[in-house]
Amino acid sequence: MNQLALFEQPLPVTPIAPLRMVCGQNRFWIKRDDLLPFSFGGNKVRKAAEFYKEIKESGADVVMTYGSNSSNHCRIIANMAAAMGLQCHVISPEEHREVLYNTKMVSQFGAAIETCPVSEVAQTIENRKACFVNEGKKPYFITGGGHGNPGTHSYVRAYDEICTQEAQMGVHFDYIFHASGTGATQAGLVCGQLLAKDESRRIVGISIAREKERGREVVRESIEAYLGADYDKLYRDDALIFEDAYRCGGYGMYSPEILEAIDRLMSEEGIPTDTTYVGKAFWGMLQYLQEKAVSGKKILFLHTGGTPLFFDKL
Ligand SMILES: *Cc1c(COP(=O)(O)O)cnc(C)c1O
Repeated sequence: MNQLALFEQPLPVTPIAPLRMVCGQNRFWIKRDDLLPFSFGGNKVRKAAEFYKEIKESGADVVMTYGSNSSNHCRIIANMAAAMGLQCHVISPEEHREVLYNTKMVSQFGAAIETCPVSEVAQTIENRKACFVNEGKKPYFITGGGHGNPGTHSYVRAYDEICTQEAQMGVHFDYIFHASGTGATQAGLVCGQLLAKDESRRIVGISIAREKERGREVVRESIEAYLGADYDKLYRDDALIFEDAYRCGGYGMYSPEILEAIDRLMSEEGIPTDTTYVGKAFWGMLQYLQEKAVSGKKILFLHTGGTPLFFDKL
């Protein structure tokens, strides 16, 4: 099958499976967005599927984006651009140049990687865009991490998918936990919940980098941008839970306890997770449940991908 056939139709539904582990008499399920069948999967595949339509409609011939050496988003966009036969140009901060699996794959997909100091990113993007336009090209720029309404929309659809699966499985999740970074995943899930006027559960974004004030504000802005005129009517401040107590000092930082949680998920459940996003958020979730004395609930953890990062640390 041509790789792009995946994006020409609705994405396949990702499985929800129960975990064996029990914690505080809570029962756990995991939704495997890491198994989306494109470029090692993850939430960036859902986002890319929305950008795919926009890129095609725009008639662009160069896809530009931004991300670090460890970026899952850049790997997937470079893969998609290659499959579409389009040139791909990635702007990346020069501060972290360790070559990781994602870095290698971005190059393997034929994308150019342009590095610059992190303080000059915005200017570098503008300059490069202008260069392409001067050459008679038509660039399409995707914000880092696939942030923006198409990215948000992809997780509104994922929220609906979860509701459909709940009905089929005959369970109701009291909580949905996930790793929250740029916030598009969380914004989408929360918009899905607000649009469904569903107050029966909590969605908890475990911050993997940002502090509460800024992180939460970025998610709220994305919700506002997506809901538009309906924002005032639908938005509830208590629907947006952005938890920053488990950041371990910031992006990419982790602790021995996180490594332990990752090892446990792999050895007991056979599920690979990484120290930057998913393993860290899973550990954060367990801490959160303990600290808040949550007990006897049904809990869904969303596995947002990052499989190449698991191998980086193996
Ligand atoms: C990007 C990413 C996230 C964070 O998603 P956002 O929508 O940016 O909040 C979580 N997990 C993995 C594996 C990612 O690559």
